[in-house]
Amino acid sequence: MSQIQSSNLGYPRIGEKREWKKVLEQYWAGDLDKDTFLNKMEEIRLQHLKKQKEQGIDLIPIGDFSFYDHVLDTAVMFGLVPERFDYATGPVSLETYFDMARGNKGAVACEMTKWFNTNYHYIVPELNNAEPKLVENRPLTFYKEAKQKLNIDGKPVILGPVTFVKLSKGYKKSEFHDLVKRFVPLYAEILQELQTEGVQWVQIDEPIVATNITYEELELLREVYQQLHEAAPNVHVILQTYFDHIEYFKEVCSLPVHGIGLDFVQDGGHHLNALKSFGFPNDKVLAAGVVNGRNIWRCNLEEQISLLTEISEFVTNDRLIVQPSSSLLHVPVTVKSEEALDEVLKNALSFADEKINEVVVLTKALNNGIESIQEQLKESITAIQSLNHSSFRNNSDVQDAIKNIHVYDVGRRADFSVRQELQANTFGLPILPTTTIGSFPQTKEVRNQRLKWRKGELTDAEYEEYIKAEIKNWIDIQEELGLDVLVHGEFERTDMVEYFGEKLLGFQFTKFGWVQSYGSRCVKPPLIYGDVDLKESMTVKETVFAQSLTSKPVKGMLTGPITILNWSFVRDDISRFDVANQIALALRKEVDCLEKNGIRMIQVDEPAIREGLPLKRENWDRYLNEAVYAFKLATTSVQDETQIHTHMCYSDFKNIITTIDELDADVISIETSRSHGELIQAFEETTYNKGIGLGVYDIHSPRVPKVEELLRNIDRALQVLDPKLFWINPDCGLKTRGIEETIAALKVMVEAAEFTREKL
Ligand code: GLN
Ligand code: ZN
Repeated sequence: MSQIQSSNLGYPRIGEKREWKKVLEQYWAGDLDKDTFLNKMEEIRLQHLKKQKEQGIDLIPIGDFSFYDHVLDTAVMFGLVPERFDYATGPVSLETYFDMARGNKGAVACEMTKWFNTNYHYIVPELNNAEPKLVENRPLTFYKEAKQKLNIDGKPVILGPVTFVKLSKGYKKSEFHDLVKRFVPLYAEILQELQTEGVQWVQIDEPIVATNITYEELELLREVYQQLHEAAPNVHVILQTYFDHIEYFKEVCSLPVHGIGLDFVQDGGHHLNALKSFGFPNDKVLAAGVVNGRNIWRCNLEEQISLLTEISEFVTNDRLIVQPSSSLLHVPVTVKSEEALDEVLKNALSFADEKINEVVVLTKALNNGIESIQEQLKESITAIQSLNHSSFRNNSDVQDAIKNIHVYDVGRRADFSVRQELQANTFGLPILPTTTIGSFPQTKEVRNQRLKWRKGELTDAEYEEYIKAEIKNWIDIQEELGLDVLVHGEFERTDMVEYFGEKLLGFQFTKFGWVQSYGSRCVKPPLIYGDVDLKESMTVKETVFAQSLTSKPVKGMLTGPITILNWSFVRDDISRFDVANQIALALRKEVDCLEKNGIRMIQVDEPAIREGLPLKRENWDRYLNEAVYAFKLATTSVQDETQIHTHMCYSDFKNIITTIDELDADVISIETSRSHGELIQAFEETTYNKGIGLGVYDIHSPRVPKVEELLRNIDRALQVLDPKLFWINPDCGLKTRGIEETIAALKVMVEAAEFTREKL
């Protein structure tokens, strides 16, 4: 019987030491000419293919590499360049490609948005009046390259037409069907040329199939793939899905393609159950995603071998492929370079290179019997057990607290209306109080001082003095500006999650664990690997110092449990909800400590609640309820007089206003300017009756707004919201702004508030 094959869906672009980012940024800065840029990029691209080949992957993905983003690559492959950019016909130039991604003097960049429920952002294609043509067969180009230069018979990866159009904008819902069909001949052309070249396997990504698709969309998929099959019958097309289970299992499995790629990790067990109920068509290949492409933990080989063994009852070996659950774009490159990590933790990690090895080992186990991988199996079991049995994961105080979570009363003592009155008496704020979101400019100077301190060039005491001086400086500035509620400015923080991660037990930071967020921007999410607890107070010193300098209230400033969770790699031996509650309990201690030390307003930021929404609607309620619970666990121990604030950055609020209400924060500030109309409308449809500040100016640009613009924004908000509940604040933190523009803009903001108060 022939053998089971191993495959990969996509490899991280950024390189072990972020070489890719550096090359890109050097080119953008004009430090590399185009030829050198292209050569260096080719080197990186080929090196990634070589690595996969050497590890023994049978089906190596081709064309997943990008200079920026794979959705943008697909758009330019079809000559889809918005009119505001320079383009006539033929292949899109590198200059235009980067202009679309980053904007240029005359034209704003294309919009960027999140790729499903990941932290990767793609460039949104604009289909207004589009006349798509195949201007360059990218998959073919890269297939040939791999073949000629490395003798790799690769598997081109293409973003499928249904998902591509779905992720685009600039058309009406009713045009969706026709638009998709206009792309079909172009995809057919790509496949035909690949067929002529002798390409055997092609992976067409249709992750949209793992969301809540409609029956009409399913029919559309059938039509599309029927046509593609007729156009290039000899190419083995795998319809690849990921990030969740597919609905209409039977129907999707009967689509006219050669194989179906399913995620067996993030499917909540659905796919194995579906196989048991419906079986699998015996003329198709099943590409089984069994190594987690979204997390950084070592694969439990024992469990995945038994999963694969069950799966293999439904397909013959020659029709089974073993692969990661999704592209490895979402994980760092290799654990190898993490020399400083604790051995127990390090042994339990697996990044892209290690995951590829796991795929190969699993394939071997199935083909040659479990004896053939005895050593790796033992290693995997020991590594996972060592971490699970380590003291990091066995903090009995934390675990008892979680077990007895019901003893916490997650609710404020009194209702908002009662609290409102008590707080009004406590703070005596004017109507339309002014405040900011937390951070003030993190200048080069601030960052340099921190760097020096980290390198040991500044003592703790010197660094602390420096931070205090910054706080004092900005307390003075805020008083002078006449703001009503002040903040300490967050000068001691690099990043709103990292800062807390470094202070809490249970978190660890890697040295090279970067993943691409958008373009050349990479993030290094903390690892939540153990039980989370407070070591010592995290924010009390700075906040209390700031409060000692002024008679106005200073808001304490914390990051909420769900945001910390969503921006980290999270342990998977316990539920995410338990981890969220561990973080919440640690924050609850911090909140108590702030309150005991005289801080009477505490802001707990939750910008990442919306983005953590599961792909499937049926899972939203549970997620949102858990998010609300964790937030309340962190924030509700306080006296009724203590005012809890929260903040959220821009997102699609339509579906979560009830959730915002349920958080029961006394005041929320929301980023607004990117969606003023929409947001106001969303609030029009509800009766939100707690304190609220809809950001009155955009903080993403250095431009100082005019007072008239602010007045207009305030007026519009007051048509929908009660002036007695309204706060006046910028959209978000001011960390990325310069000092002068920040002061100038806040001055205008205070002016606008005063003017409106007089009018009321
Ligand atoms: N308090 C944080 C700040 O001001 C909030 C940042 C955010 O919302 N992303 O920087
Ligand atoms: Zn924000």
